[in-house]
Order: sequence, then C-alpha cells, then structure tokens
Amino acid sequence: MTIARHAHCRCGQLTATCFGAPVRVSACHCRACQRRTGGPFSAQARFPIDKVTIAGAFRVWERVAESGRHAWYRWCGECGGTIAYTNEGLDGLIAIPIGAFADDANDVELHP
Ligand SMILES: [Zn+2]
Ligand SMILES: [Zn+2]
Repeated sequence: MTIARHAHCRCGQLTATCFGAPVRVSACHCRACQRRTGGPFSAQARFPIDKVTIAGAFRVWERVAESGRHAWYRWCGECGGTIAYTNEGLDGLIAIPIGAFADDANDVELHP
C-alpha cells in the first residue's frame, strides 16, 4: 500500500498530495527560509516530483540564491502560504513545507 500524505495552504484551496515516502527531509536556517516561514528555521520534505499532485490555484515566485541558483515557490494567492518549491540543482525533486502536512483532525488552535 502506498501512503498518501496531504498538505494544504492555510486557506485550504491549494493542496499537495504526496505518494510514498519522502526521499529527503531537511531543515534550513538561511535568511531566505527564515523570512519564508517566519521562524528560526524551515523544515521540508522532498519527494520525486512525479509522486506529488498539486491541485488548486497557485502563483510562482522565483528566487535567485546567493549561489546563483534559482528556486521556484508555488504559493497561494489567497492566503500567501507556500505549498511547494523546486530548486535548481535538486532536479526531479519537489519540497513540501512539513508544517503544511498537519492533519486537520489533529490541529490544535493555539492562536485565535
Ligand atoms: Zn491558501
Ligand atoms: Zn534555506
């Protein structure tokens, strides 16, 4: 049986369904990830791009890192949440922010 993991943006209209296990899980504390997440570091899971189905309307923002490499972020135009991104140099993989996987049934409303 293949496990399907569901991620969505804050408003829920943009979703990513990921089939199977991630091939890479990482954390990053670079400035760009801090600004994207609003936290001290980011955490993301990468899957083969053909194992991820994205549904909903998204916009794309392209960033050029100090290394000169490009990254492309898919984000919701309604709530601003980034649901997925790809990086030049990590071809064939797509990153999903781990926090986007939170199962609604387990969500705890900490902040009103
Ligand atoms: Zn949204
Ligand atoms: Zn980073």
